[in-house]
Amino acid sequence: MIIPAIMSGKTVAVLGLGRSGLSAVRALAMAGATVYAHDDHTAPQLPEGVQASSPEDWPWDELAVLVISPGIPHAFPEPHPAAAMATARGIPIISDIELMMLARPEARIVGITGTNGKSTTTMLISHLLGACGITAIAGGNIGTPVLELEDPGPDGVIVLELSSYQLEITPSLALDAGAVINITPDHLDRHFGWGGYVAAKARLAEAIRKTGLLVLGRGAELDPLIGFCSGESQRIDQGDAPLFINNPALTGPHNIENTAIAFRLGAYLGGDRQVMESALPQFRGLPHRMEPVCTHDGIHFVNDSKATNAEAAEKALRSFSSIYWIAGGEAKDGGISGITHALSNVVRAYLIGASADDFAHDLGGSIPHRISGTVEQALADAIADASADHLPDATILLAPAAASFDQFRNFEARGDAFRAAALNWAEETMPRDTTNGEAMNV
Ligand code: ADP
Repeated sequence: MIIPAIMSGKTVAVLGLGRSGLSAVRALAMAGATVYAHDDHTAPQLPEGVQASSPEDWPWDELAVLVISPGIPHAFPEPHPAAAMATARGIPIISDIELMMLARPEARIVGITGTNGKSTTTMLISHLLGACGITAIAGGNIGTPVLELEDPGPDGVIVLELSSYQLEITPSLALDAGAVINITPDHLDRHFGWGGYVAAKARLAEAIRKTGLLVLGRGAELDPLIGFCSGESQRIDQGDAPLFINNPALTGPHNIENTAIAFRLGAYLGGDRQVMESALPQFRGLPHRMEPVCTHDGIHFVNDSKATNAEAAEKALRSFSSIYWIAGGEAKDGGISGITHALSNVVRAYLIGASADDFAHDLGGSIPHRISGTVEQALADAIADASADHLPDATILLAPAAASFDQFRNFEARGDAFRAAALNWAEETMPRDTTNGEAMNV
């Protein structure tokens, strides 16, 4: 646990009691702060001495800070009433990551942001550094809440996955190195538009120490960030990633970019190139990101449920041939209209969720499609077609290009439903021929 001792004796409020909120409550209580905590939807058990009370009952005149979960709007499109109250009173609104920064861990700190690829790149860097004997732990927007990490000390590295929401409420962020992978329109309502979104991402560039390194992906949209960085800025180039990335979890051109960033940062942090290259095949990847589920009856099943926007789905659609594409859900602005030029590998599309009609409209006559409604039905439809077509390297790909909330609790539940249905079909039809994802050659 990382304890923000600086909060000792202060009165603080925590809004949002998911995993990171609860870890903030615990760390603050251990630091000796007086803590008030609230969540609009749940009432979890709190450590002794922490007061569960609604924001109306908080001692606003005494609050030093409001710690807010990144999922709760603090400014746009509408601030949560408690955030509005804090802003009106000039009370800083901060993240759990800010509390970690205030605790001044000894480890070197690396931050990874971007619209897509953050989790993959964060976990890959940790994996590569670990293989090189450098203790590296990942946290932030992924996995363990940062305050629950153990500081690995000056020779270790904390790799933070940082969302735009977190970047906005972590004013003390100071990074020894970091990367911005890409910026494409997403979550714009939370940032009052594109300018605000880019400004949030630019916070990572600003946070690089004078002696530190900022690594940028290839996109021209990242150019303005260079001006925000007082350390060194570098672009990845062709030599960064190994020539052959022998790992199905890192399929596709986008993963070459992620790998290039991980190698550039890994080398900067002391990783040995050869060791990193030999560790690459062992990277297990992350569930729901280009996850090879199984290959059965000549059909590959790939779960990219985390492709919650069109740009992410486009990358997956460029990564396979003969694709039976399952798409749809709660569409982002523009839906899939921006990627209809990138569908040459799609044999047929199976549309699900609230956006099904809109996506069907965007596909028009160019790609055969049907409205399947649910993940399970889409999978059944796709299996029937792929089995009849017998195309080489047929891939049934869940890459929804939309959020999941219309039909699922989150993208994980959507991916789980796809995986379970695929494995179930594989098992029911021909159990002995089923290979698991690791053996899959895509
Ligand atoms: P994030 O944490 O930023 O959401 P993930 O690594 O979880 O990123 O990947 C999210 C989705 O974006 C997945 O569908 C994945 O295939 C896709 N993706 C991964 N890396 C990139 C990239 N560099 N550019 C575009 N899409 C990507």
